Amino acid sequence: MRFNPKARLDTSRTSGGGGGGGGFGGGGARIPIPGGRAGGGIGTVVVLLLFFVLSQCTGIGPQVLGDSGGGSTSVGTGTFGGLQAADGGETGDFGSCKTGEDANNDENCALVALENSMTGYWDSQSDLSGRFQPEQSVVIFSDQVQTGGCGAASSSVGPFYCPGDQTIYLDPTFFDSIFEQLGGQDTTFVRAYVLAHEYGHHIQNLLGTMGQVRTQQGPDSDAVRLELQADCYAGMWTAAAEGDGFVEDITDQDITEGISAAKTVGDDHIQSTTSGRVDTSQFTHGSSEQRIAWFKKGMTTPDSIRGCDTFRARDLDRP
Ligand SMILES: [Zn+2]
Repeated sequence: MRFNPKARLDTSRTSGGGGGGGGFGGGGARIPIPGGRAGGGIGTVVVLLLFFVLSQCTGIGPQVLGDSGGGSTSVGTGTFGGLQAADGGETGDFGSCKTGEDANNDENCALVALENSMTGYWDSQSDLSGRFQPEQSVVIFSDQVQTGGCGAASSSVGPFYCPGDQTIYLDPTFFDSIFEQLGGQDTTFVRAYVLAHEYGHHIQNLLGTMGQVRTQQGPDSDAVRLELQADCYAGMWTAAAEGDGFVEDITDQDITEGISAAKTVGDDHIQSTTSGRVDTSQFTHGSSEQRIAWFKKGMTTPDSIRGCDTFRARDLDRP
């Protein structure tokens, strides 16, 4: 995967915040990509998801639909003002990310270019006309981070999206350690897939899809449908990204690696790797085959989110 060397990067929504710092009110649930370590991670996510759903029911939820002006999620524009780097938390240095050439030479700058590409892509989707707004921020952190609405999070949950502050949180150690323990590889496009998946959750937040989640676990649960839809949205961006001004090329090899990553973070793969057995009743993200299938389905429908309606799919194995 290569970036257009002449692209001008916008770093206003990427931040290397970490540790301490302030936060914002409101409820929310972390939506991580896979439950990093199967046991605790998934349990935590379920609890948080439940809290999120409950908070929706009680009307204190942060779900924002083009409402940037009020409520507990109003955090202004541009950089993520409430989170300042604290001791050791700072891991991202985006100040030097000016062009696509920087993105070709630096992993952090590549994340900026990817974010810019995804924001441009979703901004142009007619399905979202009038409702799109970029995520508040992409925050790179290490060890632990205080979110604005989803409490404190540690690296063990993996990358996640917090609806409460509309922010994507990434800890690069996920790629270095947990992901590799699961047999995945760390490439630029794999990071793109992860970011595109989390960006997909932001789109779901804007569209109100998260409010449809009633069942939190199991092979046909709403939670699984939500996750497979995020994979499908990632596939949509993948199919459209090449030549958008930021992404110069995505090779077949990149796609293969992305599919391999989707396989790596399938619930069955994580379960069998970490515990040696597969229990579909504990599924929260879908099986490896399902994640691959929906990612590929998204690639066939880059112009409409309707192809990604996992909530109406009768058979999640056959998108
Ligand atoms: Zn997810």
